[in-house]
Amino acid sequence: MNVKDVVELDIIDSGMDGEGVARLDGKVVFVPYTLVGERVRAVVKSVKKNYLTASVIKVLSPSPHRVTPACPHYYKCGGCDTLHIDGKYRREALVGDLKNNLKKIAGIEYSPEFVAGDGARNKLSMPFGLSGGKTVIGMYRHGTHTVEPVDCGFMGELTRETVRVVLDAVNRRNISVYDEKSGRGLLRHLVIREIGGRASATLVVNGDGIGDDIEREIGDALQQSVDFFVCPNTRRNNVVMGDSVRLVKGEPRLPVNVLGVRAMLSPLSFFQVNDSIRDKLYEAAISCVNSPALIDLYSGIGITSNLAAKKCEKVIAVEVVPQAVEDADATAELNGNADKIRNICGTAEDVLPDIAAGLNCDVDVLVDPPRKGCGGAVMTAISNLAPKRLVYVSCNHATMCRDVRIFIDECAAHGDDYEVCDCRIFDMFPQTHHVETLFCLSKRQPHY
Ligand code: SAH
Repeated sequence: MNVKDVVELDIIDSGMDGEGVARLDGKVVFVPYTLVGERVRAVVKSVKKNYLTASVIKVLSPSPHRVTPACPHYYKCGGCDTLHIDGKYRREALVGDLKNNLKKIAGIEYSPEFVAGDGARNKLSMPFGLSGGKTVIGMYRHGTHTVEPVDCGFMGELTRETVRVVLDAVNRRNISVYDEKSGRGLLRHLVIREIGGRASATLVVNGDGIGDDIEREIGDALQQSVDFFVCPNTRRNNVVMGDSVRLVKGEPRLPVNVLGVRAMLSPLSFFQVNDSIRDKLYEAAISCVNSPALIDLYSGIGITSNLAAKKCEKVIAVEVVPQAVEDADATAELNGNADKIRNICGTAEDVLPDIAAGLNCDVDVLVDPPRKGCGGAVMTAISNLAPKRLVYVSCNHATMCRDVRIFIDECAAHGDDYEVCDCRIFDMFPQTHHVETLFCLSKRQPHY
C-alpha cells in the first residue's frame, strides 16, 4: 500500500481516539469519522510500520447511527469529533468503552452510569495560522497541525470579540506567526476563558512578547470585562502554555464559584471546561468522601479541597504548579478554610510518602491526575496508607484502570480488600469522545 492509494474498507472497531478501525493486508487502518459496520471508500494518508491511516472519500454503506453534523466546519476542524454520531449511540459507546477497560485492564465487572450535562465549553485554545496571506485563528485539522480558520459555535460573545480585536491588531502590525518546523515566528495560541460574564485572554508567544505598544493597543481595544495576558513560551513542543504570564490589562485572576466555593483563577491553573457538568462531577466526587481527613492529590486551585472541608476536619492537598498552589492558598483563605487545608507544592510521587507518615486518623484519598494517570509509585504509596476510600477522577480511564489494578493488587498483598462503590461517566466534552470518569473504591470491613 502507498500513500494516495484508494481502497474500500469495512470498519470493524473503534480506536482510542474515536476513529473507525479497519484491516487491510493484515495491518490496522485508522479512518477518522467512520462508524463500526460501515463500508467506506478511502484514500491512504500515511503508511507506518504497524498501521495505516486513511481518509474517507465516500461512505458506501452508512451506519444507522450516522447523523448530519450540526456544524459547517466539522469535517475540517479537529475541535469536535463525534458530531457525526447520534447522541444515544455515542453515550452507549462511551459507557461500553469504560466497561471494557474496567474488565480488561482493572479486572472489574461494573456497569457505569452516564451523566449528561447541558453547558458549553468555557475555554478555547486556538492556534494561530496563515490563510490567504492573512493571520488567522482556528483549530488544528483532525490529526494534523494545519490551522483551519473556524468561527466556532462555542465562542461566547466576549471570546468572539477578543478574537476579532487580536486578529485586527496582529494583521495590521504584521506580527509573525510561529512555525513549528523552523521554530521561528511569534504568535502561537490565543487561549480564552469566558466564565460568569468575564473573560481572560492569554496570548501565547514564542518570545517575551509582541511589543509593548501593540500589546497595550490590544488591551485598550478590549472590553472592560476582558483581562489580557501575554504568556512567553519558547519551547519546541506541543504544550500550549509557558511557565509564566504577564498581565497587560485588567485583573490578574478570574473569579469562579463552584457549588458555593469561591476561587480566583490564574491563566496557568486548571479548571474543568464545562460549567454544568463540572458541578455534577464535584458533587458526586465529594459525596464519596466520608473520613475525618482527606488527601487531595493533583488538587489544582483547591476546588475539591474546599468542598471537602465542609465535611472533613483536615485536608492535605498536593499540586505541582506553583501558581495553582498560590491560587489554592487564596481559595482556602477566601472560603474560611485556611486552618483546615494544607496546600503543598510538589509532585504527588515525591510528597505523598512523607505526608502519609504523619497521619493518625482514618483517611480518604482523592486523585485527579492528568491523562497519563498517577503511575505505580503513587498508587503504591496510596495503598500503603490503606485509605477508607479511594476516589479517582480521571480524564483517561485507560490509565485510571491500570492504576486501579495496581492499587487493588498492592492492597491485597497487605490483606486489605476493596469494593467498587461508585463509577460514573460525566459528559464534560459533549461533542467529543473524551469524558471525565469518577470511580470510587471503599475498604471492606474485616470480618472477625
Ligand atoms: N483537582 C483539580 C485539578 C485537576 S487537573 C480540579 O479539579 O480542578 C490535574 C492537576 O494535576 C493540574 O492542576 C496539574 O498541574 C496537576 N499535576 C500534574 N502532575 C502532577 C504531579 N505529578 N503531582 C501533583 N500535581 C500534578
